Amino acid sequence: MGKLIFWFVIGLVILTVARIAARAGARGAQQQAREQARQQQAGRGPGANGGANGGANGGANGGTHGGASRPGRPAAVQQAEQMVRCAHCGIHLPRSEAVLSAGETYCGQEHARLGVARQR
Ligand SMILES: [Zn+2]
Repeated sequence: MGKLIFWFVIGLVILTVARIAARAGARGAQQQAREQARQQQAGRGPGANGGANGGANGGANGGTHGGASRPGRPAAVQQAEQMVRCAHCGIHLPRSEAVLSAGETYCGQEHARLGVARQR
């Protein structure tokens, strides 16, 4: 009974960590999630030794979660949206809002027309 709750809580923690990592979309969050996953795996050892049934079920679930988080990673990075720099005024803006012209990105049509600013 107590073991079931234990694995249920671990599943919740993994889901929460994955959600936070996806929302942040930052490389730091991914590293944190990985470290936390490692810590959880370390904590899983004694639990698996304690109960044969609980250990087998928990191990299978943990493996599924680990594999599922992988394909979600690139999507999260794309969702965070790449920031590009206006070649004219140097302002940073999301790629979807940038204007592409002659291989450079600009913050608007006007700056695209003005072109790359000359550095003095
Ligand atoms: Zn600009």
